[in-house]
Amino acid sequence: MSSAPAALVDAFGRAHRDLRISLTDRCSLRCTYCMPADGVPWLPGPDMLGTDELVRLARVAVTLGVTEIRLTGGEPLLRPDVVDVVRRLAALEGPTGRPEISMTTNALRLPGLAHELKDGGLVRVNISLDTLDRETFRRLTRRDRLDGTLAGIEAAAAAGFDPVKLNAVAMRGVNDHEVVDLVRFAVAHGYEMRFIEQMPLDPGHTWDRVQMVGQDEILDRLRAAFRLTPVGDRGAAPAERWLVDDGPATVGVIASVSAPFCGSCDRLRLTADGQLRSCLFARAETDVRTLVREGADDDALAAAFRACVAGKKAGHGIGEPGFVQPDRPMSAIGG
Ligand code: SF4
Repeated sequence: MSSAPAALVDAFGRAHRDLRISLTDRCSLRCTYCMPADGVPWLPGPDMLGTDELVRLARVAVTLGVTEIRLTGGEPLLRPDVVDVVRRLAALEGPTGRPEISMTTNALRLPGLAHELKDGGLVRVNISLDTLDRETFRRLTRRDRLDGTLAGIEAAAAAGFDPVKLNAVAMRGVNDHEVVDLVRFAVAHGYEMRFIEQMPLDPGHTWDRVQMVGQDEILDRLRAAFRLTPVGDRGAAPAERWLVDDGPATVGVIASVSAPFCGSCDRLRLTADGQLRSCLFARAETDVRTLVREGADDDALAAAFRACVAGKKAGHGIGEPGFVQPDRPMSAIGG
């Protein structure tokens, strides 16, 4: 199979180096912006990628120039063989070396797994922490597990993950009053706090831009308490970053809606049931699971990756005429 450093380049010249792999759509929380209280119909078990299938698809992607693999969910730590998955992905070799493996998690299982994951080759963790208030956490996630998440964050730091990034979805009237406290918490512990604008990926399809807490509002609140200095040069990274009180602590904002960064997007997604998505908001998917199960060779799989990227749109189109929220729930796409 031909291997070129940047083989996944779309029609807009964006080279795709970051593969987000959803290990499962199952989750131990029921966050209101992601899932209805009763959860969603889980993806059928037989449709889920087996570990050999998943690692093979990742190997093809790495050969095509992917240098970063982010493991997502649902909740990736619910996958029983997650440590083995990390170990096998971290051992892949691409044209420019081994890929960097990171994970987005709710941290509830990190106390028991952090050291094994680190030893297995996991480099970085992004942990969801929307609030420091127990009652708000219980209302937001429909689970009384704030202590568990805080213990998971501590376990990540104790295992040597650095930086430990904390992600909060800013929501009006829910946790927007906590942005300063969340930054204070992160600065005090040496973590990096990032706020995410809520995107139209909610289960009820009721997302409303007016209700969204945007980057400017978040920064206004933070500037009332901190001196913020732009870090600049974000590259393809989703977060814009600022030094807090001259650093070294930083805070980030992922302003997908108010300040889209699609122009430098380098991300591709593989769902737990083996569908390639060129964008979080893609309306079309490429079924690589069936290709694998029908005996396709690596060249055919590489061609499917290239075709998926070739069809990628310029941006998410939120707010534009004709924008339609994806049918697939966020929990089955992954962050
Ligand atoms: S919305 Fe789509 S194109 Fe834009 S940054 Fe996210 S994944 Fe990339």
